[in-house]
Amino acid sequence: MSAPAHVFGATVLLVEDDPAIARTIIYALERDGLVVTHCLLLSDARRQLALRPPDVLVLDVGLPDGNGLDLCREVRAFKGHAGSLPVLMLSAHGEELDRVLGLELGADDYVSKPFSPRALPGPTAGVSPFEMDVAGQRVSFKGQPLLLTRLELGVLADLLQHRGRIRSRDDLLRTVWGHDSDSTDRTVDTHIKTLRVKLQQAAPGSDFIVTHRGMGYSAEV
Ligand code: CA
Repeated sequence: MSAPAHVFGATVLLVEDDPAIARTIIYALERDGLVVTHCLLLSDARRQLALRPPDVLVLDVGLPDGNGLDLCREVRAFKGHAGSLPVLMLSAHGEELDRVLGLELGADDYVSKPFSPRALPGPTAGVSPFEMDVAGQRVSFKGQPLLLTRLELGVLADLLQHRGRIRSRDDLLRTVWGHDSDSTDRTVDTHIKTLRVKLQQAAPGSDFIVTHRGMGYSAEV
């Protein structure tokens, strides 16, 4: 991981609940001359932010008392200088969706977690036909640009993240639409349908989304 700021003595507020990951990040930042305050919870981070705003905020997404993306959104709603606080989201390897959402919510960048159980090497599926430019939120498929809505992008990212595995409509609703959404299975189907049309337009005959009757969808890329 590279340091988010290269100003000696700059202060960093790190919000990360995994002690091993936090230790590694703190070590790297302090080695670079940064001063780190570490919180395990969003509630503590909110208190710290009010008490002593840092120069940089480094935020995990999954925290015991909520979602780091929410705090990112709150910071962006602050008035004046405080609202422009640089925010880096921590992302486990392969969590493109978190990255895209984080950038959409105003995070300045994301950094990959140094260690994560999910980042352990697994079977990799050759060279991906996809290119995802996370900063610009542009996706291309077999060299053709895909113009996707945020939700279509979310569905695609989730399927690719779990390629070869069936994702139920509930799985997709939970990760893409969020817990308190009142969207239904039919919403998922509609987005899969438009996503398929767009993939077909980009590269005819290459629909890799498989429908599993009564179970869900998978990406077989
Ligand atoms: Ca976490």
